[in-house]
Amino acid sequence: MNSFSYQRAVDVEGAVQDISTKNKAKFIAGGTNILDLMKVNVERPEHLTDLTHLPLTEIENTEDGGLRLGALATNAVTAWNEQVQQRYPLLSKAILAGASAQLRNMATNGGNLFQRTRCYYFYDTATPCNKREPGSGCSAINGYNRIHAILGTSEHCIATNPSDMCIALAALDAKVNVTGTKGDRVVDFADFHRLPGDRPELDNNLQPDDLVTSIDLPAKTFSKVQYLKLRDRQSYAFAIVSVAAAIELEGETIKDIRMALGGVAHKPWRDKSAEAMMIGKTPTKENFRLLAETVLATAKGYSYNSFKIELAKRAIVRAFTEALQAV
Ligand SMILES: Cc1cc2nc3c(=O)[nH]c(=O)nc-3n(C[C@H](O)[C@H](O)[C@H](O)COP(=O)(O)OP(=O)(O)OC[C@H]3O[C@@H](n4cnc5c(N)ncnc54)[C@H](O)[C@@H]3O)c2cc1C
Ligand code: SF4
Repeated sequence: MNSFSYQRAVDVEGAVQDISTKNKAKFIAGGTNILDLMKVNVERPEHLTDLTHLPLTEIENTEDGGLRLGALATNAVTAWNEQVQQRYPLLSKAILAGASAQLRNMATNGGNLFQRTRCYYFYDTATPCNKREPGSGCSAINGYNRIHAILGTSEHCIATNPSDMCIALAALDAKVNVTGTKGDRVVDFADFHRLPGDRPELDNNLQPDDLVTSIDLPAKTFSKVQYLKLRDRQSYAFAIVSVAAAIELEGETIKDIRMALGGVAHKPWRDKSAEAMMIGKTPTKENFRLLAETVLATAKGYSYNSFKIELAKRAIVRAFTEALQAV
């Protein structure tokens, strides 16, 4: 590991000030991703600004009837929070499907948004990777790409976003509260992460000195939900495909529906026009298959991951079938 300087921030202003005045500086929260990347020489910060003592651990109601999740609240505290469990069970299920109990005790909500891809080549500094070393090439496109993306890919990168929490946040239309040297702003979750395009080194649309202070969940809640995560092991493994499904019925027909896919793209994948198409339809397996066919219509497989296309379609049908069984 390279040597680096370290500063523990005690307030938000101090954290932004510290990171913006240091060369090649990064924030550290729970450390469960950035330290792993530093150990394998993928992240090489010259300075770390420690966020763990910032007063951003609260989970509290917002004036508009929603819920605010502090950026420094751990994934475990968030998943087991009574309000989250009762009003946003989709989020709770998604967080609990991720990592392990020990990791969730350390991992923070803010850090989860910034976790980097699990592409094998990104971690292996002996191989070309445009995300790690812009312009060096993508080893995955013609390599072993079983875990890689099938939607929104580019000729420069086919990596996926590995988060479970973010898939539920996308489906719930969360908003991210950000502060930086240019002041405060609110970022719609759909605009937080980005597709690789010709800048795969960028995972999101934030600036390096932007600090996430909290995540807002809207007042709108769903009780019929399912987070279905398909993976190689039942625990401690990232999603091959995941589905965050939420549905609301009025009588015999669909009044509202949300769906985000994980494990298939560089960002949580939402298709709002496909969701809109489902309004007023009956919640049958045939109609969920129609949703799946529509969302996956532009999917493209590579040598080892074409199986994900049919897997994602079947996962969508199963996730909504199970969501309807929720009381
Ligand atoms: C073995 C293993 C298995 C895992 N399995 C899963 C899984 O199945 N599903 C899943 O979703 N996740 C999984 N994870 C990932 C885990 O959820 C993330 O590592 C964790 O959420 C990151 O949070 P952290 O607080 O530790 O972030 P850190 O490692 O401290 O930071 C990560 C990044 O976020 C930035 N950052 C942190 N907080 C802020 C902030 N408030 N504002 C701006 N930038 C910030 C840091 O600068 C850094 O770049 C796994 C991790 C491991 C090690
Ligand atoms: S898929 Fe992206 S992260 Fe993986 S090797 Fe290619 S450029 Fe790197």
